[in-house]
Amino acid sequence: AKAEGRGTFRLFEPQMDETVRERLHLERELREALQADRFELHYQPLVDLSDNRITGMEALVRWRHPERGLVSPALFIPLAEETGLIVPLGEWVLRQACRDAAGWPDGISVAVNVSPIQLRHRGFAQSVLAALATSGLVATRLELEITESVLLDDTEANLETLHTLRKLGVRISMDDFGTGYSSISYLRRFPFDKIKIDRSFVRDCAAQSEAGAIIRAIVSLGASLGITTLVEGVETEPQLATVRAEGAQEVQGYLFSPPRPAAEIAALLEAGTCP
Ligand code: C2E
Ligand code: CA
Ligand code: CA
Ligand code: CA
Repeated sequence: AKAEGRGTFRLFEPQMDETVRERLHLERELREALQADRFELHYQPLVDLSDNRITGMEALVRWRHPERGLVSPALFIPLAEETGLIVPLGEWVLRQACRDAAGWPDGISVAVNVSPIQLRHRGFAQSVLAALATSGLVATRLELEITESVLLDDTEANLETLHTLRKLGVRISMDDFGTGYSSISYLRRFPFDKIKIDRSFVRDCAAQSEAGAIIRAIVSLGASLGITTLVEGVETEPQLATVRAEGAQEVQGYLFSPPRPAAEIAALLEAGTCP
């Protein structure tokens, strides 16, 4: 029994060790990647449904890893948030996105994802202003995407930061709408310009009429508050038809374009519409 017990213990312990080691390794690699400039931004078009024209681009960060290739943000953003590395990484994203967008046609805006930890960090508004100033991008061409989780904690300070930025012309979008809590009451309290309806609704709307009904309800709620509605994750023509029928103003999804490297974006913008 003793031997068995020890055997079990030894089986378990190296595994725990492995997880901790892997995490520390990843954290060190993330730090190095920041130093060595190994992140890049890809961009996905936001499309106006009234004329199929591109209104803006969402910046989506990738990690160019020497062995693993292009690493998805889903795999490193959570660790970057836990370690605080999201603050310098987020600042890099802001600066790079503003710099890229400054080279695009005047009407095209850029949407940047902001982590709750980044928003809460003192000096965030200042770093947004610095990114705009150094790139020469006008504030009205920058959109910040925040999720509902931002609004749950530290509400007053976050609210003030958002108001400050909005007064300067920066636009604020609520990302992944419908996945969190208390969405509707926050829409009234916070200064949003756009609601991005989470892609789980469009994924289900072809099969379930309730998902379509929910989209319609959010669109009409947005309209009554003067907020634009965008539906994320449109992959098929039938989904697009539903989203159109429910009255959303903008869409984003693989049907129009996947996220593409910055170098391919100029050509896409030349055409103006999505193929
Ligand atoms: P998100 O902000 O909701 O971004 C949309 C995600 O949906 C992107 O995944 C995009 O590639 C994907 N997507 C777009 N259209 C479709 C579609 O038609 N079908 C499907 N299945 N997916 C679609 P990505 O690039 O892997 O990013 C994942 C998440 O990582 C983002 O979700 C965002 O939360 C986070 N993220 C990405 N870049 C940044 C960043 O610079 N800062 C922060 N804080 N988070 C970021
Ligand atoms: Ca987003
Ligand atoms: Ca989203
Ligand atoms: Ca998401």
